[in-house]
Amino acid sequence: MTASIFDKTRTLFDLPEGVIYLDGNSLGALPRAARERVAREVNHSWGHELIRAWNTCGWIDLPAEVGRKIGRLIGAPEGSVIAADSTSINLFKALTAALRLAGERKVILSDTGNFPSDLYIAEGVIETMGQGHRLKVVAPDDVEAAIGDDVAVLMLTEVDYATGRKHDMKALTAKARAHGVLTIWDLAHSAGAFPVDLHGAGADFAIGCGYKYLNGGPGAPAFIYVRPELQEKITPSLSGWLGHDAPFQFELGYRPAGSIDRMRAGTPPVLSMAALDAALSVWDGIEMADVRARSIELCEIFIREVEARCPTLTLASPRNPEQRGSQVSFRHEQGFAIMQALIAHLVIGDFRAPNIIRFGFTPLYVTPADAVKAAEVLERVMKERLYEKPEYQKKGKVT
Ligand SMILES: *Cc1c(COP(=O)(O)O)cnc(C)c1O
Repeated sequence: MTASIFDKTRTLFDLPEGVIYLDGNSLGALPRAARERVAREVNHSWGHELIRAWNTCGWIDLPAEVGRKIGRLIGAPEGSVIAADSTSINLFKALTAALRLAGERKVILSDTGNFPSDLYIAEGVIETMGQGHRLKVVAPDDVEAAIGDDVAVLMLTEVDYATGRKHDMKALTAKARAHGVLTIWDLAHSAGAFPVDLHGAGADFAIGCGYKYLNGGPGAPAFIYVRPELQEKITPSLSGWLGHDAPFQFELGYRPAGSIDRMRAGTPPVLSMAALDAALSVWDGIEMADVRARSIELCEIFIREVEARCPTLTLASPRNPEQRGSQVSFRHEQGFAIMQALIAHLVIGDFRAPNIIRFGFTPLYVTPADAVKAAEVLERVMKERLYEKPEYQKKGKVT
């Protein structure tokens, strides 16, 4: 049953012949619908409709429409998600809003498994607000014990970008709530990867990427979720005109919109937003539970095959699939060169310093046969020591 669903979704993507693409966790593949949509937006909407397109082609409503489609994948009620800006900027908006709500408490609690940019943004927020906040970063396993009455905000990424280790969002959010701690969840490696239930967990804020498992294209807009009960209590730090209650009244003073719209700042990147909107059509009729089941199947096959074939690679991801996102990572001191050799043989994953090779499994377009084939190529790279070739040692700006 699920296999046939995914036979169909695979045809919705345009993948180069012969490539096994295991990097959809970093940049999702190109949905055919996105290619067609961007062409139409350029040729018709922009080229012909010009400024009228804001109304006639629905540009002005795209952020809400895209937010609604993403909301369905992450357990967010209608009207609680908006597509805007980048993940880093949305984190800035969420964190400043949360700290203002949190009052006297000064601690932002996060962990060493977080994506560094999230920690950098927290540093910047602390400096900018200048109110004596403090970033406390503990080991992932110590987060639960560190949640207490002194904490203002718990700021976590659900899935560790390097290892794929997945936090228990429900349990950590429940404990945070019991201690009056606001929560911000970064869903960069969750949205579109497995079922997320923001509403059920009682999360206060969430943010995430449009270009990873949501396949919106390079630099696609990100999204931000605010729990409906909080929306009207928030004072936005990026108080731009499109988050105003009446942008086209051009009042001189800021009055925030009475909805998730107040998390908007300025004009959205329409072409990218349209690509993401079209990309989200591949989820029509798809249940995230089926995606999760298939993702676990793919990851289990890959781990089993790689461990049987490549004894010098060490699994860096949790062995228990329930504690893992939709990626598998291995460690090897020659990780960078190994990945370069793999890519040269058309198995595309990526490398994360200092020694992790990372493989994302996206059931919409990766099959069990791909998982086996990728392991076979990896076996060849290891057995024939192809990674020792000098051309695979050369680092580009992006790894
Ligand atoms: C990919 C990723 C980001 C990226 O942020 P951008 O603003 O899109 O560059 C942020 N946080 C996490 C956890 C990520 O994995």
